[in-house]
Amino acid sequence: MKPRLPWLLLVATVLAAAAAELERDTLHVSESLRVRVRQGRDIELEAKLAEGEDYASIARALTGSEAQAEALSAWNGQTAAAPGRWVRVPLGLLTDELRALVLRTLFPRDRHEGTDWLHWARAGLLPSYDEGMWQVAQWFSGNGREFEALMRANGLESPELGTGQLVRIPDRLLHASLKARTQSADGALEFGSDSQGAYAAYRLKQGEALYSAVVVRFTGQTAAEEVHALARQLAQRSNIRDPHDIPVNYEVKIPLELLEPEFLPAGHPRRLEQEAKRAELAQALAKDPVPPTRGGLRGVLLILDVGHGGRDLGTMHNGVWEHDYVYDVACRLKQQLERETEARVVMTLLDLETGCEPSAGDLLAANRQGTIQTTPGFLAKELGEAPIGVNLRWYLANSIFRRTVKEGTDPDRVVFLSLHADSRHPSLRGLMVYVPGEGYRAGTYGQASGTYRKFEEVREKPFVQFTKSERVRSEAVSRKLAEAIVHSFKREGLPLQAYQPIRDRIVRGRNKWLPAVLRGNAVPNKVLVELVNLSNPEDAAVLGSARWRERLAHGLLGALYRHFGETAPARPPSLTAAQVAAASGPATLDSP
Ligand SMILES: [Zn+2]
Repeated sequence: MKPRLPWLLLVATVLAAAAAELERDTLHVSESLRVRVRQGRDIELEAKLAEGEDYASIARALTGSEAQAEALSAWNGQTAAAPGRWVRVPLGLLTDELRALVLRTLFPRDRHEGTDWLHWARAGLLPSYDEGMWQVAQWFSGNGREFEALMRANGLESPELGTGQLVRIPDRLLHASLKARTQSADGALEFGSDSQGAYAAYRLKQGEALYSAVVVRFTGQTAAEEVHALARQLAQRSNIRDPHDIPVNYEVKIPLELLEPEFLPAGHPRRLEQEAKRAELAQALAKDPVPPTRGGLRGVLLILDVGHGGRDLGTMHNGVWEHDYVYDVACRLKQQLERETEARVVMTLLDLETGCEPSAGDLLAANRQGTIQTTPGFLAKELGEAPIGVNLRWYLANSIFRRTVKEGTDPDRVVFLSLHADSRHPSLRGLMVYVPGEGYRAGTYGQASGTYRKFEEVREKPFVQFTKSERVRSEAVSRKLAEAIVHSFKREGLPLQAYQPIRDRIVRGRNKWLPAVLRGNAVPNKVLVELVNLSNPEDAAVLGSARWRERLAHGLLGALYRHFGETAPARPPSLTAAQVAAASGPATLDSP
């Protein structure tokens, strides 16, 4: 035994030296990717093999071509591909995305100046002590033989470079992966194009995930299924090997057709179209503003709609379902308005068993009530009858609106609020407001069947259509109301959807539409409010709590004041200063 000991010590020493060497020249960019600079000049990316990966799959993921499998195997000394092994890939073989990532990560000080690239030699995060003009040419233009051209461009006599020496790589010599591109107005995106077409690139920051930082933010999709499908699509488009292990700074490419108009490059037809539309809306509101009320919301009529009822409980997640909980918010808002203001409230739907009183506690019962207040009333006894209820809501609203205006009320003093809670990707939170997008209600709407004919409100005016200017002004005033709601929720510390909380249509995949309750609705001022996202557990807890439901109602009340140019009076005793303070963070719940 004894003679083996020195030998073991020797092995340990050698291993320790190798480990120190590895530590010095290695930079981890993700769990399974690391950058190395060998001999102070050769840049490589190393990928840790996952179960089932081989040279072919690594070649496809890291070089973009399976044809490089053999070259990779040779580069790695023909060693067998086994899970947990690190496979070396030279910089020159990497995909454009990874090449740019490696160079940007290794040399964080480097940047564009105009279309040129500025590089500071031997000043990266790993030692590159053998870096000269040949290496710089190889890394940044893709061809070492350009070193002479680079020397000329920089007025240098010698290819030797000192630590921190600045080298300018002119645009004409710069590798395609580092070319300067146009940026979006907020600088978050860069626009480029490759063999697969035009794209916007977004570089992921620390802690950001593909689905929330890119898909939800830039494409406008919110439903879990669509968000996941798009995340997969973008991962493929951007050559992402493992969506759960994307390095910081990695460039995610979003095809332009998936972008919401405001993120498109200036001058893009879809963006121009949206800008023209926004200008048209602003003009409609400037020409014909909403007249302010003169205290206590006098003269305002709120048509308060709760979007489900009867057999239809709406969406249900995390132990909270839509109908009864949202109905309770509506009844709280009604009570606050009747206590505090001179506004009148008409409910489109009533629970004939329990009435419309705020709940005594947090938990509610699903009593399958909720009768639409048409003549005669309508209670959905089967799930299939829910769409009838949806249509009856706007018929009822239109009937109330016509009567009120006939009696002398200014049409702008009538507000239609449809309250809901929805189910979005679980990472999303809070309020989302739908306004009647002008272009989504250009047709004639109505129902002619016997099912509908038995209701007085339908018989009064079975079909509706709206002129372009009516639709434009309706969207404009409804946006104003939606902005007031967003503002008020923010002020009350209530959760808000982070991106685009106001939307002019629902988007699911390629389908876009406007909820029927807004489409056929003749009230100019109308919005559909998704109070919370029930798929998110914190949001579900908000709607599940009586105290927070009171706050949600108060948020809506504050919005009405704001919309009509009034300042909300001091808080009612039901909400103490301490409670308000406790609600300072949208993600905080002050009681379990
Ligand atoms: Zn709903």
